[in-house]
Amino acid sequence: MDLNTPITDLPKVGPILTGKFKKLDITTIGNLFYHVPSHYLDYSLVTTVSKLHAGETATIHAKIVSIKNIYSKRGIKMQIGSVEDTTGKTMVVWFNQPFLIKTLYPGRTVSISGKVGFFNRKLCITSPDYEILDSEETPTVHTGRLVPVYPETSGLSSKWMRTLIKNAFKEMGTEISDFLPSDTISNSNLVDLRTAIEKVHFPKNLEEAEKGRERLAFNEVLNLELTSLRRKIDWKKNRVTNKLEIKESAINEFIRSLPFKLTDSQVKAANEIISDLKRDFPMNRLLEGDVGSGKTVVAAIASFAVFLNGCQTVIMAPTQILATQHYEIFKKLFAKFNLRISLLTSQVTKKDLGRNDIFIGTHSLIHDIVSFDKVGLVVIDEQHRFGVEQRKRLVKKSGTPHVLTMTATPIPRTIALTSFGDLDLSVLTEMPAGRQKVTTWVVPEGKRSGAYDWIKSQVKSHGSQAFIVCPLIEDSDAETLEDVKSVTSEFEKLKDIFPNLKLGLLHGRLKASEKDNVLTSFKNHKLDILVTTPVVEVGIDIPSATIMVIEAGERFGLAGLHQLRGRVGRGSEKSYCLLFSNFSSGNAFKRLKAMEKMNSGFELAELDLKMRGPGEIFGTAQSGFPELKIASWNNIELIKKAKDVANDIVKYPKKYLKVDIANFSLEGTGFLS
Ligand code: ADP
Ligand code: MG
Repeated sequence: MDLNTPITDLPKVGPILTGKFKKLDITTIGNLFYHVPSHYLDYSLVTTVSKLHAGETATIHAKIVSIKNIYSKRGIKMQIGSVEDTTGKTMVVWFNQPFLIKTLYPGRTVSISGKVGFFNRKLCITSPDYEILDSEETPTVHTGRLVPVYPETSGLSSKWMRTLIKNAFKEMGTEISDFLPSDTISNSNLVDLRTAIEKVHFPKNLEEAEKGRERLAFNEVLNLELTSLRRKIDWKKNRVTNKLEIKESAINEFIRSLPFKLTDSQVKAANEIISDLKRDFPMNRLLEGDVGSGKTVVAAIASFAVFLNGCQTVIMAPTQILATQHYEIFKKLFAKFNLRISLLTSQVTKKDLGRNDIFIGTHSLIHDIVSFDKVGLVVIDEQHRFGVEQRKRLVKKSGTPHVLTMTATPIPRTIALTSFGDLDLSVLTEMPAGRQKVTTWVVPEGKRSGAYDWIKSQVKSHGSQAFIVCPLIEDSDAETLEDVKSVTSEFEKLKDIFPNLKLGLLHGRLKASEKDNVLTSFKNHKLDILVTTPVVEVGIDIPSATIMVIEAGERFGLAGLHQLRGRVGRGSEKSYCLLFSNFSSGNAFKRLKAMEKMNSGFELAELDLKMRGPGEIFGTAQSGFPELKIASWNNIELIKKAKDVANDIVKYPKKYLKVDIANFSLEGTGFLS
C-alpha cells in the first residue's frame, strides 16, 4: 500500500462510496490524505460528569443507563438518555434520530462530546457527537479531541472520512516517506510529509494542525510551479517557422515617427519583446498594463519588426469594435511605411484581400477561410477574453509563430510569482504623461436625480460627454436578449430624463454597421450620452468622453470597474466616474468605496483577490488560471518558498532523486491534484 493505492483497497470502500469520493476528486489514499479539513471542532476537554458546567463544550466517557424515544408537543422526536460515570449521572438529548436507541442501548460505554446546557432545568448535553468505546485504550476518532470537519458531499459525511483516514493512516502511516530531502524541508521551515498528514488529521492543537496544513499547501504550490517550469522548458524546444532578423535602425526610425515619446516602461517592454523575436524558439510573452498605459503601440513596434522581415502579423481582438479601432490606429501609425493592413470582418470576403503584412480581426480569424502564408507574430489583445483553446487554435493555424498576449487585468504579485502559467511577463508600470486621476463617487439611490442634474450641467457648461453602462443581467461574458431588452428600456427612460440631450444606444446585438454609426457619432461629438452594455469595457478610445456612469456597480468585479473607468480620463479634461449602487453597507459597498480611493489597477486587483478570490478576477477555469484547493493566493511567503524550491529542483536534479524530474511532477510522490 502506498499513496497511489486506490481507496477501493481500503476495507469498507465499495463502488457506491468510491463514486461519492470521485465527486470530491478523491481516488487514491494520497488524495484522501490531502483532503484537508475546513475546520475543527474543539472536543479536547475530556472531563467527568461531576465537573460538567453549563456553557462549555466537553467530552465524557460514560455508560448508558436508559434511553427512549419521546415526542414533544410539537411532534418533534427526541431521544432522551441518562448516562453515568463513577462521579455521577447526567442527561443527554438528541433530536430526530430515533434509530439511536438501537446502537446506544443501556450498558454500553460511550464517549460523548457536545455543548453542556439545560433541559427541563436539569444539566444536559444536547445533540452531542458520540462513539462507542470498546476499550478505554482505543483512541477516540469523533470525540474527545480536536475533531476535523471535512468538505463533504451528499452521502459522504465527515464521520465516514474520519474513519477511513484513520484506517488508512494506521495501515500505511509509517510508510509515507518524503519526496524532499530533509535539509530542504528544514531550510524551508516545514514539517515532513508524514508528520504533516498526521498533524492535519489528528492534531493535538490548532498550531499543529496549521503546521501540517502549511506543508500540504506548500506541496500544492510546488506542484504548480513545477508544472509551469516544465511547460516553459517544453516551449523552448519549439522552433519558429520564420526566423526573424532584427533591423534596429529601421525600427528606431519608426519609433521616432510616433506622435509621442514612449514611456520608459514602453521602451523596456519593446526591448524585451525585440530580444525575444531574435531567438529561434518562439516568444511567449504577456504584456500587462493598466487601461490606457499604451500597449497597442508596443504591439505595433513588434509588428513592424516582423514586417521588416517580409513576415506577417496576425492580431486578434475580442470585439469587432476593438478590431476596427486597432485597424484605424495601425493605418495611421504606419501611414508612411507602406504596410498593407487588412481588417477581417464578417463582411470582408477573400477576394478583397491581396497579400498583407498585418491582419486584424476578432476570433473569426481562427475560422476564416483566409490562410496566412508567412506569419512571424501573433498578437492576442485582452487575452483573458479568449479561452485557452481559442488562443491555441489561432497560434496553430499560423505555424509556430512568436506569441504576444496583452491584458489590462493586473496580475497580483503572488500569481505572477507562480509564473502565471508559463508566460514571460512585461509590465507597463506608468501612464503616458499628462493623464489625470479620475474622480470617483459611489452614488446612493437617494442621490440619483441629483447626479442626473449634475450630468446635465456638465454637458451644458463644458460640453462633456458621458457613458452610461448597464450591467449584464446574467453572470456571463456574452450578452443575452434579456440584456438587450434591459439596456433598451433604460435607454428609453434616460431619454425622458435628458430630454434636451442627444443619446445613443450601443449593445452587442446591433449590426456591425449600426455599432460603427453609433460609435462614430459619439466620437464626433454628435451624441452627448452613450447608453451601453459593458461591451465598451475593453479598449475603446474616445478621449473627449469625461463622465463614466455605471449602474449596479456591485455587479462588477473591481478589475471590471477599473477597466470601465479607464474609458474616461484619456484626454486633458477633468474626468469623473459615478458608481450607482443599491448597497450602502456590507462587503459589496466596501468594495465600491475602494474605487473612490484607489486608482491603481494593481491595488484593486489585490483587494479583489482578498475579497472575492481569483475566479472573479480572471473568470472561469477556461481562462487557464490555476485553482488552489489548500493554499491561498494571499500567502505570498509560502508561494515564494515554493518557487525557490522549484527552481532548485530544476537546477540540481541530483539532490531531488525522489521528485520525478523527467516530468517535473510530483505524481508518484502521492500528490495528485
Ligand atoms: P491600452 O494599454 O489600454 O491598450 P492604448 O494602447 O489604447 O492603451 O493607449 C491609450 C492612449 O494612449 C492612446 O490614445 C494612445 O495613442 C496613447 N498613448 C500611448 N502611448 C503613449 C505615450 N507614450 N505618450 C502619450 N500617449 C500615448
Ligand atoms: Mg488596448
